[in-house]
Amino acid sequence: MLKYLKIYNWSAIDKTLEQKPNIFLSQFSVIAVLACVIQIINDAIYTNIIAVILDVSVLLVFSLAYLLNERRCHMAAKLVFCGIGTGLIFIYAAIVPKETAVYLLFFPIATIIFLIFSNEQRIYKYGVLTYVILLLLILELTDYQPLGDLNVTEGISLETSYYVNLAIALFVLIFSMYNIDLINIQIEKVRLAAERELLEKNLDLKQANEELDHFVYSASHDLKAPLLSILGLINIAKYDIKDENTLEYFVRIEDRVQRLSKFIKEVIEISRNTRTQVEKVEVDLDLLICDIIENNSFKDISADVKIEKNIELNEKVLIDRPRLEVILNNLVSNAIKYQVQDHPNPKIEIEAKLKDEILQIIVSDNGIGISHEHHDKIFEMFYRGEQSKEGSGLGLYIVKNMVEKLEGELKLASKVGEGTTITLLIPMT
Ligand code: ADP
Repeated sequence: MLKYLKIYNWSAIDKTLEQKPNIFLSQFSVIAVLACVIQIINDAIYTNIIAVILDVSVLLVFSLAYLLNERRCHMAAKLVFCGIGTGLIFIYAAIVPKETAVYLLFFPIATIIFLIFSNEQRIYKYGVLTYVILLLLILELTDYQPLGDLNVTEGISLETSYYVNLAIALFVLIFSMYNIDLINIQIEKVRLAAERELLEKNLDLKQANEELDHFVYSASHDLKAPLLSILGLINIAKYDIKDENTLEYFVRIEDRVQRLSKFIKEVIEISRNTRTQVEKVEVDLDLLICDIIENNSFKDISADVKIEKNIELNEKVLIDRPRLEVILNNLVSNAIKYQVQDHPNPKIEIEAKLKDEILQIIVSDNGIGISHEHHDKIFEMFYRGEQSKEGSGLGLYIVKNMVEKLEGELKLASKVGEGTTITLLIPMT
């Protein structure tokens, strides 16, 4: 029995933050029932039978709201509490003089509305609030006699009623405010706990990412050395092999090992891009582009491709050389690889200029081009638009990531059958 002295035990609803509005409804219903009991005693002593009948009706309505709420019919309970309960208080306020201050009860009801309706029930919250304000307005506009002069004030002690209503209104108002404060504290606690958890998870994720990255980097590095030995051995073996068929097998093995070696190189480039910081050095772009053209000119397919360069730069640029080299290498090798077979005039153009502190490098070709539906996807990891050529689908992914690391921008313009132009914009500041 003593446990019911604690307001916390007035409801059997689960004590969770989501159920808070429903728990409040039960608590306020009990407070309203207790207030009704005080009113019944007061009206029985100082007022008349009509007031007592009204007090009992209000008591029954709030008891019903409590029972409905405890039986999980929360919305029905809320509507009974606010709709019928406030309606009866309105009638009560209408038949007694203004001096009894019954209308004061409307103010705590307005604050209760904010506590018993959840955020998802906002529409009901403001609907009920409008209803309460309307009732109060009707009272005010009709000089607190909307039903006419019913003359039920006989024997009434205006003063005691005034103080009883004032005390009830103040108590409920303070109780509501206190609970709003409590909810805020609780929400803040939940928010802080969620934030802490998120931070911890983020840290775990970062660590897992770093470990994975480290593993990929080490594994790729460890694979590189034996692959180079295999390539060396194949080269030596090719001199000794006399049999044509066996030689053919070795040529094929060499090709596959070279592809694997290129793939591992790309994986290392991706890993290095995430692991290392941007380090700017002075670069002679003209020289760098010459090197790249030369590196790519050993490929069989590049034999007929004419590569033109147009460098409008007189001074060196301050840039991360290894990254720029990888980017340009990928773009130029793609421009060669995706040329049209038997094109009469296969051509690649590399332009570079500095404009408004932005280094602009354009690599364009008159190759097979990229159809529009692939434009967004070709920069994704492992995405390959053209299956007829060899490739891993990592080249442009690496380009995109490195350009992002350099805080630059990439632009693609391409049409099937006409060619492709990729523009790099890298800020120099
Ligand atoms: P890979 O060349 O290994 O397939 P990339 O990431 O370098 O991977 O390129 C992704 C796709 O973009 C290619 O499969 C190809 O369809 C398309 N592509 C890239 N560069 C060009 C280009 N210069 N001309 C035509 N298609 C290109």
